Amino acid sequence: MPCVYKVNKDNEKVVMPELDPETRSHNFCEVALGYNEEQAQQEARRCIQCPKKPCMSGCPVGVPIPQFIEQVALGNFAQAYELVHRANTLPAVCGRACPQETQCEGKCTRGRKGQPVGIGRLERFVADWATAHPDQVMCQDAQDPQAEAATQSSDASLTESEDLDGYRVAVVGSGPASLTCAGELAQRGCDVSVFEALHETGGVLTYGIPEFRLPKTLVAQEIHKLEDVGVEFKTDVVVGKLYDIDELMDECGFDAVFVGTGAGLPSYLGIEGEGANGVMVANELLTRVNLMKAYQFPRFDTPVYAGKHCVVVGGGNVAMDAARTARRLGAEVTLVYRRGLEQMPARAEEIHHAVQEGIQLQLLTNPVCILVDDDGWIDGVECVSMQLSEPDESGRQSVVEVPDSNFVIDADMMVIAVGSKTNPLIAKTTPGLEVTSRNLMVVDEETCATSKPGVYAGGDAVSGAATVILAMGAGKRAAAGIADYLKMKQAS
Ligand code: FAD
Ligand code: SF4
Repeated sequence: MPCVYKVNKDNEKVVMPELDPETRSHNFCEVALGYNEEQAQQEARRCIQCPKKPCMSGCPVGVPIPQFIEQVALGNFAQAYELVHRANTLPAVCGRACPQETQCEGKCTRGRKGQPVGIGRLERFVADWATAHPDQVMCQDAQDPQAEAATQSSDASLTESEDLDGYRVAVVGSGPASLTCAGELAQRGCDVSVFEALHETGGVLTYGIPEFRLPKTLVAQEIHKLEDVGVEFKTDVVVGKLYDIDELMDECGFDAVFVGTGAGLPSYLGIEGEGANGVMVANELLTRVNLMKAYQFPRFDTPVYAGKHCVVVGGGNVAMDAARTARRLGAEVTLVYRRGLEQMPARAEEIHHAVQEGIQLQLLTNPVCILVDDDGWIDGVECVSMQLSEPDESGRQSVVEVPDSNFVIDADMMVIAVGSKTNPLIAKTTPGLEVTSRNLMVVDEETCATSKPGVYAGGDAVSGAATVILAMGAGKRAAAGIADYLKMKQAS
């Protein structure tokens, strides 16, 4: 595809406006403010429409990246949105939360000299533009052959002629894997019901990722779009308690089931004092603030406490979210991580924002004991210093304690964010469902079929805690797998 616009040769991305760190560390408003039309066009023109388009191979849901960027560069924002949305059910979410630096942007040709094209920022721009201009998007929907052709060539899974009318599919959980699977199956004509254990839908997008990174109104909007295409949501239904999978199929009459129950069971450190008052897991803090709406105080008077000096343990996105949330609740925050900055699994952008907001990083440090006062409250965290060994043959460095390096960090609150596991409920209540020793569901990689006929699974319930876009990719593959299964049923 020849480049039909004048390329912007700047080596750096167009800067995304942000709230200043001092102001935002006292409120829950979204930190990154997004591009305006002019900034988006300028950034889009950094794409050189290179012949091999390696960015495409970095997108698990097959967004036609160069094509949508070209439309942004030309100012055709409605067309750009159509191209993105046909491949990605949740573009406003992915534009904000995806680790683009290791996905599409990690492969972008422009990244070889300077910064890659800001693909995520442009995806966010087109999703937000579409929300602000619903009338223009609706008009484009029916009449954009260019968008249709581009998307069809990039995404063979959207075969709209499939007639799966009348087939009923139950989707368990309502995180990104389930939302994607539900949307894809509804487009194919299936009658889709989503069963969610909590009283709100969205999975981690709703209860985990904070408002200042992913506004909840955006998640709700994306879910309403699914309701508009006929997906039915049933909340407060714990599958494995109210119904099990066999009952969904045999008694409730579903032809197939998708399980996207995530990995929401928190891990603990297993050290002395973990049961003290003032010690909680990140899931609890984030759920109180997001799902129970403590971030909207005083409108919602949800009990939540982050202390005066809060120690957060962990180095991933969850730890960053917990630390930045505790900061906004008024605490001085120290983040303790057992490895170094380079090994931190959190996105670089999140670490940067956390430091800007005053979070202290205490690296190469591991908690060994929680000190507890006479009233049963946390009274400090005893830690040891750690050091990294020389890299082994695979390049991995192990981390070992420095002898006699114990010291105490003052703390009246501690939040543990050291990973999460899958809940064993579905595995225990579904005969014939093969799971690993960690209760991860075993599936066929291509179709997401489990060992039980008609039951499919994807997202964190299969991979363990991972990312939004990988969960969505699995939801999309599962939808194609379920469609093939239903067609086989139809033919037999
Ligand atoms: P989930 O989003 O976990 O959804 C599972 C849903 O199933 C939940 O709503 C749960 O209540 C429901 N459920 C569970 N059991 C049952 C049952 N028995 N019956 C009915 N419903 C059930 N990823 C990124 O890409 N970028 C980020 O910036 C990022 N930040 C994160 C921040 C936090 C705090 C957390 C916790 C995770 C973050 N992740 C991030 C990871 C990402 O959110 C997950 O990988 C993704 O949400 C997994 O999607 P899923 O659909 O598999 O499961
Ligand atoms: Fe454009 Fe980068 Fe994709 Fe090439 S790899 S088409 S420069 S976004």
